[in-house]
Amino acid sequence: MLASLLAAALTLAAPAPPRAPPSPPPFVVVVDPGHGGDQDGAISPGGVKEKDVVLQIARRLRPKLERLGARVVLTRTGDIGVPLTTRAAVANGLKADLFVSIHLNSMATAAGRRTSAGVETYFLSADASDANAAAAAARENADRMAGEPLPDPGDPVAGILQDLEQTAALAGSSRLAYALHERLIAALGSEDRGVKQAPFYVLAGARMPAVLLEVGFISNGAESRQLLSAAYQEKIARAIAAGVAAWRAAERRR
Ligand SMILES: [Zn+2]
Repeated sequence: MLASLLAAALTLAAPAPPRAPPSPPPFVVVVDPGHGGDQDGAISPGGVKEKDVVLQIARRLRPKLERLGARVVLTRTGDIGVPLTTRAAVANGLKADLFVSIHLNSMATAAGRRTSAGVETYFLSADASDANAAAAAARENADRMAGEPLPDPGDPVAGILQDLEQTAALAGSSRLAYALHERLIAALGSEDRGVKQAPFYVLAGARMPAVLLEVGFISNGAESRQLLSAAYQEKIARAIAAGVAAWRAAERRR
């Protein structure tokens, strides 16, 4: 009796059990599958369109990001055209924490299509890192729809880069780019073509860390076959989600 009273008293006096560690605050990710509608993007040797493959990858990515606690918004969920400027505007309107545009690379020449494969990750700058980066930006920018505001043709993003908030977002974009790129290279074992900068319109208006992933070359026979497989698309999606998690953890320590 005494023992049980004592036990009851001890229970009452016991401190509250330690709380579970606080879960990370929710965050918003805008995932942008490139092209759509009239804009096919690049085409595989077998005739498969970039717009369809990147939408499949984005759909695989969504639940993986949601498991990290993210609210995920896709700029398109079907085969529809979305103006390039609208894509970043969606992210701005949601006050998203990050913006990830997913694309597939391609080469214009037969020799390039045979030999070029691998992953490139981009963030914004007024000047392209090299000729290949300039070509990638020119190709992805070709979707700019009639009626979309024309940037200064001499220097498409310099005006935007004057904005301090944009400059801060650019440093964040660089860190995000490296986090995603490292995970993609490690997971896919494909050629590391580097983190680069180029004037992509789709990134120019984003007021948060924003990157454009060229996750492989749809113009390359062997790599396009991989890109079309569910298993490889899952690897890509898992790597992007892991990169987002690593980036988030690093940002929270900053
Ligand atoms: Zn593209």
